[in-house]
Amino acid sequence: MPRDSHNISRKNIGKNALKVLYRLNDAGYDAYLVGGGVRDLLLGLQPKDFDIATNATPEQIKKIFSNCRLIGRRFRLAHIVFGRDIIEVATFRGHHTPVDDKNKTAQQNEHGQLLRDNVYGSIMEDAERRDFSINSLYYSVADFAIRDYWHGIEAINDRKIKLIGDPETRYREDPVRMLRAVRFAVKLDMEIDDATAQPIIPLANLLQNIPAARLFEECLKLFLSGQGQKTFVMLLEYGLFQQLFLPIKDSFENKNEPSYKLFSLALKNTDSRIANNLRITPAFLFAALYWHQITPKRLDIQNESGLPVYDAFQIAMSDVLDMACKSVMIPKRFTSIIRDIWQLQPRFEQRQGNRPIKMLEHPKFRAAYDFLLLRAELEQGHLTELAQWWTDFQQSDENQKRIQISSVMKTDTDKPKKKKRRAPRRRKPAPPSNE
Ligand code: ATP
Ligand code: MG
Repeated sequence: MPRDSHNISRKNIGKNALKVLYRLNDAGYDAYLVGGGVRDLLLGLQPKDFDIATNATPEQIKKIFSNCRLIGRRFRLAHIVFGRDIIEVATFRGHHTPVDDKNKTAQQNEHGQLLRDNVYGSIMEDAERRDFSINSLYYSVADFAIRDYWHGIEAINDRKIKLIGDPETRYREDPVRMLRAVRFAVKLDMEIDDATAQPIIPLANLLQNIPAARLFEECLKLFLSGQGQKTFVMLLEYGLFQQLFLPIKDSFENKNEPSYKLFSLALKNTDSRIANNLRITPAFLFAALYWHQITPKRLDIQNESGLPVYDAFQIAMSDVLDMACKSVMIPKRFTSIIRDIWQLQPRFEQRQGNRPIKMLEHPKFRAAYDFLLLRAELEQGHLTELAQWWTDFQQSDENQKRIQISSVMKTDTDKPKKKKRRAPRRRKPAPPSNE
C-alpha cells in the first residue's frame, strides 16, 4: 500500500523508533515498523510501543548501536535503549522446519509448542510467523509504504482478529496466542473470527505448559490495560481464565460467587483509576483474586493444629500465595504488598488507643483501605460502618481523631480491649558445644 493510500505519518511515530529505522536503513539493512505500532496508527490509536523488524542479525544490530542489549532465549531480540524508552528490534523470523538437535535453533515439544525460534528468514517468512493478520503489517521509512502479506488491512477494516495459518497449529506452537486473541478483541473492540475462535475452548488447557513467569507478564497486559473487567469476562467465556487460575476456578463458576464479585469490582476500580491517570498496582488485583481463599485455609489450619487465629492466618496467607505462584508467578515485590493488604484487614477492626493512628502511618495503609472499601461495597452491614469510620478518621484533625477513637469504645461492634494471645515463642535450641 503506497504512502498516499494510508494515514500513517512519521509525526505519529516515536522519535527514537524513527532514529532506529533510519540508522538501520543507512547501514544498508531493511527495517520496518511492525506489529502494534502500525496496527494502532491505522486505527487512529496511540501505540503503546514501537516494534521494529529488520534483516540485520542481532550481532549486526549490536555493531550499529552502542546503546544495544541483546536479550531473550526463545526469541533473541535487540533492545535499543534510550533512557527509559526501549525500542525492540527483531530479526526476521524464518520457517521453523524441524531441525536436528545439533542445530538447536528451532525446537518443539510434544504438544507442538515452539521452545526456540531463532531461525532467521525473509520479510515474507517473518510475516507468516506473526500471530494475527492485523499484527503483520510493515511500514518502511525508505518508501513510506505499508507491506501487507496477509490481508491485515482488510482485517483492520472488517475489525476481525484472524490468526495467520491453521489456527490449531498456531495455538499449539504458542498457547499464549489464545490470551492475545482475547486481549486484542477487547482492546481494539474487534471480533474474533470464527475459525480463530473455535479452537480456543478445546485447547485452553495448553496454557498449563506455559511458564508461570510468562503468564504473570501476560496477566499484567490482560488486567492492567484499562479494560480489565471486560477482558476478565471474555477470558471466562473462552475457558482461559479457568486455566490461568486452575486451583481456584470453582470460585468463578458464576457471577454470585464472592470471589467473582470481588475480583470483578477490583478490576472495575483499576480500570477507572487507569482512566483517571491514578497509580495502580497488580498487587491490589491479586489480593482481591485470592482473598476468599484465606479464611477456609485458616480454619483448616486451626482445626488441624489448634493454632490461634493470628498464627493460622499468617500461615494461611503463605499457603495461598504459594499455591497462587504455581499457576501465575507473582514476583516477590508484589506478594509482600498482597500480604500487607490482607494483613491490615483484621487490623481495621482494632480502633482503640493508638492503633488507628499507627495504622494511618503504615506504608500500605492506602491500598489496604481501598481494599476495605471494595469489601464493604460487597458485604455491607458492619463493613460499611467500619469503612465509613476510617474514611471520616482520615479526614478529621487531631482533636476530632481523639474524639472518634474514644467514641468507638461505646459502639457495640468493638469488643473490650483484650490482651493479645500469641503462640508461645519457640526457643532456639542451644548451639551444640564442642566441649
Ligand atoms: P501491544 O504492544 O499493543 O500489546 P503488539 O501487537 O505490539 O500489541 P507485542 O507483544 O508488542 O504486541 O508484540 C509485537 C508483535 O510481535 C506483534 O504485533 C506480533 O506481530 C508479534 N508477536 C508477539 N507475540 C507473538 C506471538 N506469541 N506469536 C506470534 N507473533 C507474536
Ligand atoms: Mg507492541
